[in-house]
Amino acid sequence: MKLFEKHQEKRHKNKEYTIIVGCGRLGASLAGRLSDKGSNVLVIDENKDSFRKLPPDFGGMVVQGDATEISVLKRAEISKATSVIAVTNHDNTNVMIAQLAKELFHIDNVIARLYDPDRECVYKELKINTICPVVLSSSKVDQLLYQA
Ligand code: AMP
Repeated sequence: MKLFEKHQEKRHKNKEYTIIVGCGRLGASLAGRLSDKGSNVLVIDENKDSFRKLPPDFGGMVVQGDATEISVLKRAEISKATSVIAVTNHDNTNVMIAQLAKELFHIDNVIARLYDPDRECVYKELKINTICPVVLSSSKVDQLLYQA
């Protein structure tokens, strides 16, 4: 794992640059997959211990801090990001980060995880892509039950 201070020299120019906010199981797994593919990836988490979930061979970068703070997003050089994926454990936090990424930093590809499926339609209006584990799981169960 590379320290943030190495960020500028580590990040390859002319490559996609993905910021993942929240280094839980999903965030760490996504970060590992992107890093394996050779993408520029940076993970933000407010809890330093969460970075232990990253694979041992993770080749990306990390920033510790509360990603709802603009100074933290700037430390991650969000304005250079091609994609931002917000997968903290709070819907409101994910949506706030997604809105900041979209509206303040003009990132095209923004994805937020939502635990509450009832709110998905609101974010569609904001043009924020959402992933909702409840919806994905129920559709998979449906598929396994009825389309096998
Ligand atoms: P999980 O619940 O396993 O998906 O993990 C969610 C992760 O999001 C945890 O590692 C939290 O520390 C992290 N997290 C929650 N809120 C924030 C925030 N505002 N900024 C950065 N990371 C956060």
